[in-house]
Amino acid sequence: MNHFDVIIVGLGPSGSIAALLLETYGIKVLAIEKEKEIYNLPRAVTISDQGFRMSQLAGIDHIYEENSTVLGGARFTDKDLNTIGNAIELDGLISPNGWPPSSLFHQPYTDQAIREKLNNSKVEVLLEHEFKNLNHIDNQNVIKVFNLKEQKEVEFTCRYLIGSDGGSSLVRKELNIQQIDLEYNRDWVVVDVELMNENTLGNQVIQVCDRERLSTFVPSHLPFRRWEFIIHEHEDKNTFLDETKIQELISKWLKPEEYRIIRKAVYQFHSVIAKNFQKDNCFLVGDAAHQAPPFMGEGMMSGYRDAVNLAWKIAVTIKNELNNKLLKSYEEERIAHSKFVVENSAGIGELMEAYAQASDTEEVPKELVAKGYGSFVLPNLSNGLFFGGKANEKMHSGEIFPQPLQYHNSKIVKRMDHILGSKFCLVSESKFSVSEENKRFLELLGCKSLILKKEYIDENSWLNFFMEQGKTYLIRPDRYIFGSTTSHVTLNELIDDLKIRINLENTI
Ligand SMILES: Cc1cc2nc3c(=O)[nH]c(=O)nc-3n(C[C@H](O)[C@H](O)[C@H](O)COP(=O)(O)OP(=O)(O)OC[C@H]3O[C@@H](n4cnc5c(N)ncnc54)[C@H](O)[C@@H]3O)c2cc1C
Repeated sequence: MNHFDVIIVGLGPSGSIAALLLETYGIKVLAIEKEKEIYNLPRAVTISDQGFRMSQLAGIDHIYEENSTVLGGARFTDKDLNTIGNAIELDGLISPNGWPPSSLFHQPYTDQAIREKLNNSKVEVLLEHEFKNLNHIDNQNVIKVFNLKEQKEVEFTCRYLIGSDGGSSLVRKELNIQQIDLEYNRDWVVVDVELMNENTLGNQVIQVCDRERLSTFVPSHLPFRRWEFIIHEHEDKNTFLDETKIQELISKWLKPEEYRIIRKAVYQFHSVIAKNFQKDNCFLVGDAAHQAPPFMGEGMMSGYRDAVNLAWKIAVTIKNELNNKLLKSYEEERIAHSKFVVENSAGIGELMEAYAQASDTEEVPKELVAKGYGSFVLPNLSNGLFFGGKANEKMHSGEIFPQPLQYHNSKIVKRMDHILGSKFCLVSESKFSVSEENKRFLELLGCKSLILKKEYIDENSWLNFFMEQGKTYLIRPDRYIFGSTTSHVTLNELIDDLKIRINLENTI
């Protein structure tokens, strides 16, 4: 009764999406959360194109779509709000993932709807249960949990444990995993307001590089708007939660009668990353594994990427009774990528400081400027579960395969990711065949074979780019390309390599 395939500790955004994804793969999951209600201080506000696409996999994209507004762009300004350097213009763009590059959402609405979806799922959810400790007995994780409502201890066992218990993760401590401090640690106050009237604040994020006080304006969804202000070391951070202090900080933008403060919090923005994301049969995801200052709006997105990367690997391992070979690629792929996000998020904060201090913006080091604007383009994956063990430009492995879109009068009417299925997928423009042995292997994986209709290819410029190269692509469940055929690599060789990498070569 008390044994599960997977136990998830912490039902913030990362744990919630991990639970929903594992459920879709038919895995028996217990999710425990110490709080009764969802977190209600101001936190995540932007969701990226990839974030939306990952939400599609978990069936929660409609929740974000109903509660979000497309972001128009981002810019750095001086204290008088004059733009410094380049700005990022996002209006009207659709990425290969099939969504606008960034959208703004109201987290209390989305988190509540996601919690309701979880409560109605097959995931066993225990709220007001606090994870206490972990032991490994007979190749199983044995965890002790304290039922806060009934004030009693309960014990559960599982094959895999996922620690998604946030920045001060007890799971991470129990696993004795150290963190690397990337040394951006600054106090900021974050304030969400509800606007009383129409306003002219615009739809772009503004990073104000004011020597006296750095600040960020975030347009947010519907009547809400957000400001973030740095707190200097000599200042008393508690005073920054006073209404009059907040009104004084916002006075450059709005008069007090034009808004109502709905949420406020002082955070220390950190940049840290765990040395390992896996130990034995336990994994860290989300803030438990990495924390970034929010300037890139990518912290929660990194947590989503962790969950999506891990969920299908756990499912394939459990369903095929494999050893942990496939799971090793989780840490290999995710540490490097999330380190980029942490470093570049801190880089944006450092760029703001450099712009604020410089008398001439030309003095600001080019590497720092590149971090500010360049970091909005995320890297592909490099080493991991790809043909030959690493990404390869010629094969496009390590890149994300574009989402097929259906248009009507130049408007997207349908996102067609579902035609790729939720497991592996072989995609080509023309017929292809594989050996009988490989056919059996692909069946075990639930791999779909798809010949893309010409009408989709013609109306999707991103798809066209990939398909005009005449390749057959082997795509992973998280939409990353495992590899593709080339003049040197046949389809059977591609599949043979996957077989070895996930340790299924002796099962067929
Ligand atoms: C001001 C601010 C703005 C941000 N803006 C963005 C943004 O725009 N876009 C973006 O992508 N990211 C953003 N982020 C980052 C994002 O909010 C976090 O990365 C994200 O919330 C992490 O989610 P998580 O599920 O990993 O951790 P958390 O949200 O911290 O969830 C952890 C959960 O674990 C539970 N828990 C902890 N310990 C235990 C225990 N022992 N037993 C049981 N349960 C436990 C907690 O109660 C909590 O519910 C922002 C962060 C801040 C601070």
